[in-house]
Amino acid sequence: MSSDISRSMFDLSLESSDCICAIATPHGLGGISVIRVSGPKSFEITRRICGFLPSAPESHKIYYGFAKQAKGNQNLDEVLVACFSHGKSFTGEESTEISCHGSPVISESIVQALIASGARLARPGEFTCRAFFNGRIDLVQAESVLALIESQSRQASRLALRQLEGELSVEYGKIEDCFLWVLAQIEAGIDFSTEGLETVSFGKILSRLDLEKIRVRALLDSYESGRITRDGLVVVLLGKPNVGKSSLLNALLKEERAIVTDEPGTTRDLVSASLSLGGVRIELFDTAGIREANSKSEKLGIQKSFEMMEKADVVLHVIESGSPVLGELSIPAPRQSQQIAIVFNKTDLNIKASNLNPEGAQSFSVSAKTGDGLAELRTWLTNIAAEKSSETQLAVSQARHFELLSKIDVSLNSAIKLIKEEQSAEFVAQELQIGIRSIHELVGKAFDEQVIDRVFKEFCLGK
Ligand code: GDP
Repeated sequence: MSSDISRSMFDLSLESSDCICAIATPHGLGGISVIRVSGPKSFEITRRICGFLPSAPESHKIYYGFAKQAKGNQNLDEVLVACFSHGKSFTGEESTEISCHGSPVISESIVQALIASGARLARPGEFTCRAFFNGRIDLVQAESVLALIESQSRQASRLALRQLEGELSVEYGKIEDCFLWVLAQIEAGIDFSTEGLETVSFGKILSRLDLEKIRVRALLDSYESGRITRDGLVVVLLGKPNVGKSSLLNALLKEERAIVTDEPGTTRDLVSASLSLGGVRIELFDTAGIREANSKSEKLGIQKSFEMMEKADVVLHVIESGSPVLGELSIPAPRQSQQIAIVFNKTDLNIKASNLNPEGAQSFSVSAKTGDGLAELRTWLTNIAAEKSSETQLAVSQARHFELLSKIDVSLNSAIKLIKEEQSAEFVAQELQIGIRSIHELVGKAFDEQVIDRVFKEFCLGK
């Protein structure tokens, strides 16, 4: 067995004869740490340090006793051991979970005792990877485990859970069924190029493909809300130096996160912070003030401000109250689906010029200093977050899915076009096969080393 930690997960799947172990709760949450053991001989290896386990433990039963060193008789901790038989565990392999007191020293010593008894330390993500290779979950569900662990908001965890429950996999399965059905019809010998077309099948095939097109489009369209639900609504504060962008970020956060000075051009790098509005995560970015920059670092900062604006879901264009909007800044036209609001700050200074804003533009008059008007701005952001995220709808949230669904969409459209043009059946079949390959990559029925490594490299130890 190699100890090379850079080994691919793909290679590791071939090492499923190993019994692996790792601490699943490194911080001992709630005063308890859990150590996972999985693979052949998990019961036997666990019994070597937990002698109180019977020789044939029952699945889904918890046993109580003292864990001991592998060699020697010294107790390590008072533990509970849950046993899961082959085929009845998360990984699909014989597994145990040892719950001990949540001290890193204790959990580490139990892991060491297991290694001395024949297990090896698991690689990050290896438990989930095994569940995938053992057919317990598909790749979509494996990704949802990571999304669930990383979820930063109530909505993000709900979305990940729906994915883990297989709702998205069911949708992808329906698309696959359609492609396979159409391919079967084509291969059964419908030749569109001959006279006397089988008009019923022809129409039937097209209407089935059209229906699937709607499904794929709906999934592609759900990506924006899925991404926002998972990663948060990106809100960027943009404006000239000294208009109060950093103060506004702090005021919205209700904490001193960004440095506030009366010296223009102090924010050179992006400052970001998260907050939760209505259960949705908001990623707030304070950017370098936009003006004719003097220094190289300020120029770079300003370039970053514009790059960040491209990525923003919402841009808050901050202007000093009383300043005219026109000629303030030339902000590029918003991306479709991007929202812009003009925020007139420093209303407490009582500058008497009118806060004129371009026709139809959303605007707010606030004071980051006194907090005036901030409630309205927060409510507006909360409403956008609620609108753009997906509490009840199933949504695609991973870029990998979006890329593959886009490819499936292309195959689907090409197949429909070829059929309508009454092209040779082989061309249609070829296009359908390309689509099927993309669906298989999506759910993990077909994969290569890079895909597997890309999916599992983000996981932490013990998952
Ligand atoms: P930024 O460069 O746009 O990030 O601006 P800052 O947040 O650093 O603020 C620049 C100056 O304006 C600081 O002296 C702040 O105290 C002041 N300032 C910010 N917001 C307000 C406000 O609402 N009212 C008043 N009176 N001063 C403010």
